[in-house]
Amino acid sequence: MRGIRYRVDIRTLRVRLTLWYVLLMGITLLVFSVYVYFRLQNNLIAQVDSSLQVTASQALTNLDMENARPAFQNTEEAKTTAAQLSSAGVAVQVISSEGTVWDGFGAYQSVPKWRPSGPGFVTVGEDKNSWRIYSQPIRSADGRRLIGWLQTAHSLASVEHTLEGLREQLYFALPLVLLLAALGGFFLANRALSPIDRITRTAQAITASDLNQRINYQGPADEVGRLASTLDHMLERLQQAFAQERRFTDDAAHELRTPLTVLKGRIGVTLSRQRSKSHYEQTLMELDREVDRLIHLSTALLFLSRIDQNLVARGTRPVHFSELIISIVEQMQPLAEEKGIEIESRIEQGIIVCGYEELLMRLFVNILDNAIKYTPAGGQVSVSAMPSNGEVITRVADTGVGIPEAELPHIFERFYRVASDRSRATGGAGLGLSIVDEIVRQHSGRIDVQSQVGQGTTFTIVLPACNPTENSKVSDPDWLHSHWAKGKANGHKSR
Ligand code: ADP
Repeated sequence: MRGIRYRVDIRTLRVRLTLWYVLLMGITLLVFSVYVYFRLQNNLIAQVDSSLQVTASQALTNLDMENARPAFQNTEEAKTTAAQLSSAGVAVQVISSEGTVWDGFGAYQSVPKWRPSGPGFVTVGEDKNSWRIYSQPIRSADGRRLIGWLQTAHSLASVEHTLEGLREQLYFALPLVLLLAALGGFFLANRALSPIDRITRTAQAITASDLNQRINYQGPADEVGRLASTLDHMLERLQQAFAQERRFTDDAAHELRTPLTVLKGRIGVTLSRQRSKSHYEQTLMELDREVDRLIHLSTALLFLSRIDQNLVARGTRPVHFSELIISIVEQMQPLAEEKGIEIESRIEQGIIVCGYEELLMRLFVNILDNAIKYTPAGGQVSVSAMPSNGEVITRVADTGVGIPEAELPHIFERFYRVASDRSRATGGAGLGLSIVDEIVRQHSGRIDVQSQVGQGTTFTIVLPACNPTENSKVSDPDWLHSHWAKGKANGHKSR
């Protein structure tokens, strides 16, 4: 996109990475150079020192100590040694304890004056004019009296020259290496970050209305590859969620429109001419039923949209499950009797489930309501609940009309009705089982259905049993109570 590539902006990651790289490289090179420089300097001086020490011990043997002022012997051997040492650049001299030069050979006259206070090495002078001097005491034969000093010296000009060469090389090489590092660093950072640029460009091109685009990163499965595939998966889920949401809104609008159209039509026909009082009463009763359907539908829709807030995940508390199921069966008994259906129940005592009582109630009311609704007169509905291996298994079986096998995978979908004519006649909107499914999911449970057309249907609901330590006190939200109460007060089926 605009200016992402190669823009030298301190805010871009590639420039910041390069600067850090150059900074760290610079510090490392500087420390390394300083170390190499001083190491070389010490080594060179140590070499000079050892040669000065050897020379001093050689020169001492050539010293004539007969006179008051010691001087070098005049033998042929002494002369040869002196010539060799001179050509090696070593100056040797004998000085009095006051510093007066008595004798010497080599370039001893150029050696800076140095009156030692003790034996050892010293560097005298500056830079190329500096000398390294080794002083060794000359003592009387009994060793008590200091006669003077034997000094061996070597110019440090060559050492300084070598060090200067190294300094020049470092002054030149360091900025060059840093420049190369900066270019290399920028190139590497750019190479590593260019897939992210591509991901950014693709992501920028994706809008809510065009969620079918994917990054489709073809590179290796490294950090960037994983980021790209994570984004692709996220887009996939978003697309599904958007599509589901759109389908839900379309279906909801359609479902609300149908009863409203019926209402409008009925009202229009009734108002088209003068009617009798009984006709108006009859029409109002029909309208009342349609309005009931609308209230029921909007309550279910509201419930479905609110339940997505993951109420159960926010906290559950132990629910006396056995008592809950028994009370639901009792509640549904009049409805079943009205239809000539027998309800048989086998509920084990003392079962406790962790969850939301209101939601669990709604779950089983919906299942039982369906069982009664889709079972013809003279049929039977049986309810059983029992604990098993840390779970609670509840079965609601009926001897009703059954569900065709091809339809079974869809019955939990929102607004899905097996045979719309059949369900419309029963007043269902196809939301009851979606609510059931959502409640089961939020309780980390499972639901299974088995059915044979003409024989009956069995729903099996498995919920995790309650671990008493998981108690957490969460009060039921007001909206659940209000809608639940409204549903019952109006005498609707409680979906
Ligand atoms: P509705 O409100 O239409 O009953 P549901 O979501 O509760 O919607 O059920 C979806 C479909 O599953 C219904 O249309 C119905 O045909 C079918 N169904 C649900 N329970 C049963 C049952 N116990 N016996 C036969 N069919 C059932």
